[in-house]
Amino acid sequence: MNRLPQETAPESTDAPRGGSCVILGAPNVGKSTLMNRLLGQSLSVTTPRPGTTRMHILGVQQIEDPPTQIAWMDTPGVARPKTALHQQLVQEASHAMENADCILLMDDCTDRGFKIQRSDPRRPKPSPEALQSSEAGDGPEDGDTIGKSSPETDPAYHVRESRAARILRQLTSSNGDSSTAAKPIVVAINKVDELGIKDYLLPRMSAWQAYEGVRAVVPVSALKGTQLDSLVKEVRKCLPEGMPYDPEMWTNRSERFFVCEHLRGSVMRQIRAEIPYGVAVYLDHYEEQDRLTRIQASIVVEKASHKGILIGKGGLQLKAIGTEARKAMETMLGKKVHLEVWVKVVEGWTRDPRRVRELLGSETAVQP
Ligand code: GDP
Ligand code: MG
Repeated sequence: MNRLPQETAPESTDAPRGGSCVILGAPNVGKSTLMNRLLGQSLSVTTPRPGTTRMHILGVQQIEDPPTQIAWMDTPGVARPKTALHQQLVQEASHAMENADCILLMDDCTDRGFKIQRSDPRRPKPSPEALQSSEAGDGPEDGDTIGKSSPETDPAYHVRESRAARILRQLTSSNGDSSTAAKPIVVAINKVDELGIKDYLLPRMSAWQAYEGVRAVVPVSALKGTQLDSLVKEVRKCLPEGMPYDPEMWTNRSERFFVCEHLRGSVMRQIRAEIPYGVAVYLDHYEEQDRLTRIQASIVVEKASHKGILIGKGGLQLKAIGTEARKAMETMLGKKVHLEVWVKVVEGWTRDPRRVRELLGSETAVQP
């Protein structure tokens, strides 16, 4: 049945531990940034816009002392799944979660919907019941916090209303999958580098600590790399003993997958319009030579008008996309890349489940 929560016995603190940890959180909270930081590789596409991670990506972090292996899973964040593409992404995320030993829930301390004036450290701490009760009601008129402090300045209120708390409630709710509900959760409060007010952090941390299932709360900055050691330490405590992964392994994704990701990431960064969400990439040709890799790739868009935007006047836009992607590929592969890129239109592919499966599946494969 359900695995019992693992306690760290004092005598085995330094025993080898390993397992998987899935990173959950709202779009744009910094999941890909964290994973790339931890693995020291640019594995996931990071962009200033939400919803850009396409599939869950697994990378294994190996630590010598104490012996640790953590397989991090970065999940795509989709707030309200509308298209077939979104539904596929949500399915991937829930599958990743079911198989994980630990859940890292990312909170964003800038996620509060208001501008903070000042927090009051003397304010009474909310009870766990008060926190959980936000399920039913919503907003400031919702009983317990009102009168004690105003929602604008109340970290407990911000946590309760945060997108991360919504995810947590889904995880631990009784109608959720019970194997998921029993998993240990570590909360990372991200983007603390953007926090001007220091006495805001402690009450936000204790608000998180009050939630059932939360083993530890660590404030971090994924971008600056602050406090990541403490975060890893807390995740490690949640993992079973043993070293389950091949020491040579650092990702379950092939070079070809990342080649596609670099091209898709380049489109994301270069194009400002809505187009990037409907972009898929596949390889037509991939040939490794001694000092050169020859790559022919197709960018698929869902409208003919998008094709025009991607190509740009005199092909300049596509040239810029290709150049940026090629440089990233060369850095990753450690050799020269000859890259040719085509743009193809597959009308409305993100709404067609069969096309979505085909095109996402093909991101790693070379087309016949
Ligand atoms: P994801 O959608 O959760 O994968 O988020 P990303 O990792 O793609 O990050 C979204 C945006 O937040 C990017 O512009 C990041 O540079 C930024 N970001 C991530 N972590 C931090 C952080 O610790 N501090 C600040 N200030 N920005 C961050
Ligand atoms: Mg991401």
